[in-house]
Amino acid sequence: MAILVVGSVAFDSIETPSGKVEKVLGGSSTYFALAASFFTNVRVIGVVGEDFLPEHEAVMTRRGIDTRGIERAPGLTFHWTGEYKENLSEAKTLKTDLNVFADFQPKIPAVYQDSEYLFLGNIDPVLQALVRSQMPDVKLVCGDTMNLWIGHFRENLEKMLKDLDVLLINDGEAKMLSGERNMVLAAEKVMALGPKAVIIKHGEFGATSFFRGGAFPGFEQSGPFRAPALPLAEVVDPTGAGDSFAGGFYGYIASQPKLTPAVFRRALFYGGVMGSFTVEQFSTTRLETLTRAEIEDRFKLFVQLSHLEQDDEQA
Ligand code: AMP
Repeated sequence: MAILVVGSVAFDSIETPSGKVEKVLGGSSTYFALAASFFTNVRVIGVVGEDFLPEHEAVMTRRGIDTRGIERAPGLTFHWTGEYKENLSEAKTLKTDLNVFADFQPKIPAVYQDSEYLFLGNIDPVLQALVRSQMPDVKLVCGDTMNLWIGHFRENLEKMLKDLDVLLINDGEAKMLSGERNMVLAAEKVMALGPKAVIIKHGEFGATSFFRGGAFPGFEQSGPFRAPALPLAEVVDPTGAGDSFAGGFYGYIASQPKLTPAVFRRALFYGGVMGSFTVEQFSTTRLETLTRAEIEDRFKLFVQLSHLEQDDEQA
């Protein structure tokens, strides 16, 4: 099984209450691919500039990620500058230098054509739609977006949403996309735009999934499901939490023989686990040293955190 991901491979300059870093490795598909690589094979499509060195690519290849779909173009790599003030759940974008992304035309290498799962990471929805149209036979398509595209490129985004199975967005984006303050109504309106399921991420408070009636075979009775987030004493850098969540979630799904409601729910827990590791250090540092055993230990913590005995009185 393999996931094909398209998204940004980037350099980030970030300031958080814990410190400041300049031009460190980041990008929506970088975080996604690293997180998903603990569960399944991952193939990346993207573009980088001349400042992207072999040591940056090695962060991905050391985890077995297939980077043959990352093009090198003359110029500089996409560079995002952002900060987090009091609210660690929401980044303030200070600058977006598209650089080589400005002229990017995604091409899918022949060796990637048999990928069963597609993840449309956060980039221009026109590029997301272009990749989607070149992969008509995938089993499942999952995608992400951000306020920039909802606010200024809505028409393009709505075209992309029509062809999506699962959309991951955060609370603010769900409100912005739907015009609804209430989460249930927001989820319904978002699903009316196309996705069969929507996962609304609540930052440090977990995530909730909603399904359209009978979204997938076997999901006829599936109501909303809430997965927790681990209360952490310190969040060093929230950048990449959403993409790592997506990588854990989708990576786990791709590793399973069949998409069932139980697999979907466990996948949401693995998403939370991967997001919780990413925020412990700046950039991709924590994901680079992580082991599968640490992931499983934390998964157990997530289960304990949210486990309720049915017959508490007898326990
Ligand atoms: P998140 O997981 O939502 O924190 O996403 C963080 C990553 O998104 C950062 O590493 C950035 O490089 C990337 N990013 C920020 N803005 C954009 C954008 N407009 N297009 C593509 N990627 C972006």
